[in-house]
Amino acid sequence: MTVPTAAAELAELPAYLYDLAALRSHAAAVRAALPDRVELYYAAKANPEAPVLTALSGLVDGYEVSSGGELAHVHATVPDAPLAFGGPGKTPEEIAAALRLPAVRRWHVESERELHALAAAAATADRPVDVLLRANLPVGDGALAGVALAMGGRPTPFGMDPDRIEACLALLASPGFEHLRLRGIHAHLASGLPADEQLRLAERIVTWSTELAARHRLPLHEVNVGGGMAVDYDDPDARFDWARFGEGLGKLLAPHPGLTLRIEPGRALTAYCGWYATEVLDVKRSHGEDFAVVRGGTHHLRTPATRGHSQPFTVLPVDHWPHPWPRPGATDAPVTVSGQLCTPKDVLAARTPVAALRAGDRLLFAMAGAYAWNISHHEFLMHPRPAFHYLDPADPR
Ligand SMILES: *Cc1c(COP(=O)(O)O)cnc(C)c1O
Repeated sequence: MTVPTAAAELAELPAYLYDLAALRSHAAAVRAALPDRVELYYAAKANPEAPVLTALSGLVDGYEVSSGGELAHVHATVPDAPLAFGGPGKTPEEIAAALRLPAVRRWHVESERELHALAAAAATADRPVDVLLRANLPVGDGALAGVALAMGGRPTPFGMDPDRIEACLALLASPGFEHLRLRGIHAHLASGLPADEQLRLAERIVTWSTELAARHRLPLHEVNVGGGMAVDYDDPDARFDWARFGEGLGKLLAPHPGLTLRIEPGRALTAYCGWYATEVLDVKRSHGEDFAVVRGGTHHLRTPATRGHSQPFTVLPVDHWPHPWPRPGATDAPVTVSGQLCTPKDVLAARTPVAALRAGDRLLFAMAGAYAWNISHHEFLMHPRPAFHYLDPADPR
């Protein structure tokens, strides 16, 4: 069953719909575009729904988790999957819990404080603890000027400046740090970069890391160049150019035979597999502009509010109108689609041209599979939660 058909038939709205077959084929295509020495991890924070994690298993090499909560949840859902544990502000409890799990294969260390805490906690570990140092590299003036979000190349709480990385290398060579094994460098610097810019960034990260390793006469086994592959909400059919990216990573690896690269996309893997379906409750004209008020809103789908975009949608017309009063609507007009919250920020799509839209019609919002339900303020105004449906031909329920 296609997503629009399913959305048209649902008894209760709003609802999230996931196309797990589409997710699997997309992830398989991403994997196929990457060279052998590039590992693909999925950043679970983009969407940690259990069926989504499960659908990806076998198609990704592992999962990146950024909290003790994600760690426990992802491990319970895909117990055999390797995990990389990142995130700033790891607590002593989270560090202890992660050390007990053999599934945690990599630690992305964010600070010297964390390296000290990890070394102390790992002193009694029965196996070496493999770490990558997360670096916040200078990336050159304006290199990240156009990105949606920057986690590096400027002052941020993420990772370490180059001089702090040097300090960590000194610590790792000193007594008390024997249980930690340095594997390489991690850098997740930006979100929203197209393939060529991602490649330029990856090249800078690899060059910087190899020079660092050479200077300290250390082997460099791996470099994690992060996630942040662009997703264009203005063009639901556009995709990050994985073929070009994979080819570029292959060239980047060629002079470094012993090196493994790792990437950890979130949004670009799952954004396209999720949909938010709802119903138009009312259509109103306000000071010359048309507004459609839908059941639900940004407390279910916060993505457009956080990013300041219009979430792409299609109208699923419902011809039946059971009421004796007139049916409000708009034709051939830009319409602002808002939710049920009493705030002007509750906008899912602003001034979006529609051919026709009436109260009672259904709207199907695309690209709602990443940073959508899980980043939304569900409790605000105490509206009911949406339903969740997972379309999966492999598992018809
Ligand atoms: C959020 C995050 C990612 C994933 O970012 P996307 O933009 O969703 O691809 C990867 N790595 C780290 C460290 C992150 O914090």
